[in-house]
Amino acid sequence: MMKIFRGDIELDTIYEIKPDELYARGIRYALCDLDNTLADYDTPLPTEQVKAWFCAMRDKGIRVAIVSNNGRTRVEKFCESLDIPYFWKSGKPRRRAVRNALAKLGGTAEQTVLIGDKRTTDVLCAKWAGILSIKVKSIKPRTILWKKK
Ligand SMILES: [Mg+2]
Repeated sequence: MMKIFRGDIELDTIYEIKPDELYARGIRYALCDLDNTLADYDTPLPTEQVKAWFCAMRDKGIRVAIVSNNGRTRVEKFCESLDIPYFWKSGKPRRRAVRNALAKLGGTAEQTVLIGDKRTTDVLCAKWAGILSIKVKSIKPRTILWKKK
């Protein structure tokens, strides 16, 4: 695999992310993908587990925003109850996805991590933007019938 597609940290799920370890690395902002990172495509609202994760991050002093390439309706509905900034049709892997989010949050590249399940959007976006990347496994990968993964 090309190095640009490899996450700086690779985990199975977001729940393995240790907020205090990120904080100790100087991370204060987490830009988080939505689909297949926080929930599968069929789950419209955050689960209690997702909500608890957001609280744990916030309690440690890390602000989380959702940066999604999905449309407004999906992202707005999911984020409604979370009380966090969110960005739809963010344009990942283009750098402006990170730039726009940081402009709103007020953080710097050095203080920011991007968390997501897709190498060609999330990991690549983090690399191009020069920020830390955490790659998690897709919650429910789309079935590709003609090609076994
Ligand atoms: Mg995703």
